[in-house]
Amino acid sequence: MTNVAVLLIDVAAADAAEPAEGWSSTIRRSSPDAPTLLVTDLAAIRGDGIFETLGVLGGHPQQVEPHLARLAHSAAMLDLPAPNAAQWRAAIAAGAALLPDDEQGGIKLVLTRGPEGTGVPTAWVMASTAGNAFESERTNGLRVALLDRGYDHNVAQTAPWLLAGAKTLSYAVNMAAQREARRRGADDALFVSSDGYVLEAPTSTLIARFGDRIVTPRTDIGILAGTSQLSVFDFATSGGLKAEEVLLTPDELRTADAAWLVSSVRLAAPIIAVDDTQLPLDRELTDAMNTALLAREV
Ligand code: PLP
Repeated sequence: MTNVAVLLIDVAAADAAEPAEGWSSTIRRSSPDAPTLLVTDLAAIRGDGIFETLGVLGGHPQQVEPHLARLAHSAAMLDLPAPNAAQWRAAIAAGAALLPDDEQGGIKLVLTRGPEGTGVPTAWVMASTAGNAFESERTNGLRVALLDRGYDHNVAQTAPWLLAGAKTLSYAVNMAAQREARRRGADDALFVSSDGYVLEAPTSTLIARFGDRIVTPRTDIGILAGTSQLSVFDFATSGGLKAEEVLLTPDELRTADAAWLVSSVRLAAPIIAVDDTQLPLDRELTDAMNTALLAREV
């Protein structure tokens, strides 16, 4: 990998008061090629941990506070110690400073349960350049395949131990869904609850437009609350559109005037097909959404 920087965070140090030299003194740079993680780390052997990915533009990390809030929410869902926001802010700033100003980048925040038996979490920040991996999707759109997630839409209430809605390191299922979508000739998957409601994509939130109304699946149905979706809703409502969180069926989605997958690094990619049903590509709104996402305050 090129342009990857790794910063290790001493989480144990965050239990004490801020050191005189500041939180950055509890963060240590490592090489991405150096062996860093113990093979006994519960992230490696059980996927037991959480993460966040935030975008970096012009050297500025975007939406730091919403991502830190979501990291704290995921930590609480997994009974992990609450992240020290000031320490993570320092690590994010240090990571962003290592990225070039003239390229889109991303920063991953990772917090694991740590090596088995120690009770000491492992934490790091990884900053990397994103290249133009998603540019073609933003321009040409993408096709999604609807895949059953195997849970009812009320899974978060009936089975909270399934951690639906937490951003855990157990994303093997999400990656398997993307491979299945590609086998079906699509570019990405879109999960549907077993009782028939559209949920989210494996790494993105769904937004759809019906006339002057834009909608997204409700966040209390076992899906991740997207930071990009919130930004798009802010932008859309300030431009006069109505915005709503809804329960949406696949049949309703197929009648949308436009739809998108949105996430921090992908930004807004228009959906041009749901299985075999074509959807219109709203060029003007797509471009406006991406301009708004790119212009967000840090
Ligand atoms: N849904 C899932 C399952 C995700 O993993 C992600 C992001 O990685 C999103 C939605 C989009 O979230 P955000 O817009 O905060 O990047």
